[in-house]
Amino acid sequence: MKKAIFLDRDGTINDNHGGYVNKPDDLMLYPFAAEAISRLNKAGFLVLVVTNQGGIARGYLTPQDVEAIHKKMIADLLVQGAHIDDIFFSPYYLKGHIKPFDIQHQDRKPDIGMFNTAREKYNFNIKGSYMIGDKYTDIEFGKKAGLKTILLLTGDGEEEFLQKRSGWASKPDYITPDLSSAVNLIFKLEQND
Ligand SMILES: [Mg+2]
Repeated sequence: MKKAIFLDRDGTINDNHGGYVNKPDDLMLYPFAAEAISRLNKAGFLVLVVTNQGGIARGYLTPQDVEAIHKKMIADLLVQGAHIDDIFFSPYYLKGHIKPFDIQHQDRKPDIGMFNTAREKYNFNIKGSYMIGDKYTDIEFGKKAGLKTILLLTGDGEEEFLQKRSGWASKPDYITPDLSSAVNLIFKLEQND
């Protein structure tokens, strides 16, 4: 059975330090993202993106804008030889003001609604699968889902690690500098498996 790699989007695949990604032109892929994802593709992993897009509930962008951003992301990765199998996004945020998205919802990480949806759609071996992201909420999501977890220091990761780690209920399984080194680590762990 295939193994899946769940990837966060902002701060994991693309740089979010310029602010929010509200339109396709805001999307800036990390220079190493395509190469890292293509290695996962070649090794036979299912590559699934799970992203909180609470900006929809806040009125910064619409679900259609998010779809357009993802269309560009998929195309930009594909020309560099990397394939995303599926993208799940959560438009919900309790403190937003756009209905019907201004609610707490299981699809918003760290809850695992998006994982459950992926589970219904695809067959994969949970125990051999990973969640990779730059926020502690990504780690909580992965832990609740039964995945191995890797925190990246790109995006918000370094700040999360330096400022917030004392409050973490449980630690990430691994911490690596970026997505490329996370993929190196996965390959190393797979060899020893
Ligand atoms: Mg992120």
